[in-house]
Amino acid sequence: MAKVLEPNATIVGREDLSEELAIFQVALDEALPEGDWFVPGQYMVIGVNNIQEPELGGVQRPMSIASEPAERKHVEFYIRRVAKPESKNPLTHSLFQLGESERVFLRPKPKGHFTIPGTIGPEDERWRIYVSAGTGLAPFVSIARDDISHGRSVAKTCVIHGVSRSGDLGYREELEAMERDHGLVYIPTVSRPAECPDWSGICGRAEDCFKDQGIEMLESKMGLESGSLGPDHSAVLVCGLQGTIGESILRLSGRGFVPAEKKIRKALAIPEERTPSLFFEQYDSDPVIDLEDQEILSQLRSGLGLD
Ligand SMILES: Cc1cc2nc3c(=O)[nH]c(=O)nc-3n(C[C@H](O)[C@H](O)[C@H](O)COP(=O)(O)OP(=O)(O)OC[C@H]3O[C@@H](n4cnc5c(N)ncnc54)[C@H](O)[C@@H]3O)c2cc1C
Repeated sequence: MAKVLEPNATIVGREDLSEELAIFQVALDEALPEGDWFVPGQYMVIGVNNIQEPELGGVQRPMSIASEPAERKHVEFYIRRVAKPESKNPLTHSLFQLGESERVFLRPKPKGHFTIPGTIGPEDERWRIYVSAGTGLAPFVSIARDDISHGRSVAKTCVIHGVSRSGDLGYREELEAMERDHGLVYIPTVSRPAECPDWSGICGRAEDCFKDQGIEMLESKMGLESGSLGPDHSAVLVCGLQGTIGESILRLSGRGFVPAEKKIRKALAIPEERTPSLFFEQYDSDPVIDLEDQEILSQLRSGLGLD
C-alpha cells in the first residue's frame, strides 16, 4: 500500500468558482517562520490521502502560492480539478472532496525560482507582462499582492489571464481593484464566449494577445507606441500549461523576446550576451517546444534574428 500521509494542516477556507476550480486556504499547524517566509512566485507541495480508495494512500503535488508572505493566517492556492488525470490517484480528485476544517498535508518549505529575484531580478525597471492560463495566475497574484503591500508600484505590471468561461476568472475583482487603485493593467480573456453570453470583454486564449491584432491591443492597453513591444522595455513571465508557454515563446520570438530555458537556448545556439527576457513555469510535463522540429527551430531563429 502507498504511504499514508500524516496531516499537518487544515483547510480554513474554500471558494468554488465552478465545479472544477476553487481557491483553497490552508493553515499549517506549526507556526510560520518570522518575516517574509517565502518569495512570491514560489510553490508548496500539498498532499492528501485517498478517502474513497484508502489502499491507494497519499498523493502529493506542487501548487503555486497565491497568497503573499504577509498573510500569516493561511496559505492560499488556486486549484483546478483535472478532468482527465494521468495517475490512478489524482490529488485534485481527492482534494475537491474536502471542505473547511478538513485536514491535509503541506510540506512546510516553499520551493521554486519562478520569482522576481529568480527571473528578471528586483532592480529590473522594465514592464512586467505576466501571462497566465487558468490557475497559472496564482504566482502573479502573490507577486502583485506583495508589491502593493510593500508600496512598490505595479503601474508597469500587465496581467493577462486566459480562461475558458468568464466565471473562471479567479481574483477578477481584486485585479480590477489593483487596476483602478494602483494602475496595474489587467487583461482578462475568455476562450469560450459562446458559453457565457454576458461576457463583452476580450475573447481568445491568453497567448492570442501575441498574435498581430492581440499585440496591437496589448500595446494600446499598456500605453506603448504601436509596433514597439519588445525586450528593451518589457520582460515576459508565463505560467501554466505547455500550449500557452510554447505559443507565447513562438509568437514573441518575432519581437525579440529571448527564452530563458537552457535547453531551448542551446538548441537555438543563442549567444550568451543575449540576455533572457521570457521566463516560464510549467504545470504539465509536455515539452514546451518540440526541439526536434526543424521548422519550429528555424522560425524561432529567424524571429530572434539569429540567422
Ligand atoms: C511548480 C508547479 C506549480 C503548480 N501549481 C499549480 C496550481 O497553482 N494550481 C493547479 O491547479 N495546478 C498546479 N500545478 C499542477 C499540479 O501540480 C498537478 O499536476 C495537477 O493538479 C494535477 O494533479 P493530479 O494529481 O490531480 O492529476 P494527475 O493524474 O497526477 O495528472 C497530472 C497531469 O495533469 C495535467 N495537468 C496539470 N495541471 C493541469 C491543469 N491546471 N489543467 C489541466 N491539466 C493539468 C498535466 O498533464 C499533469 O502532468 C503545478 C505544477 C507545478 C509543477
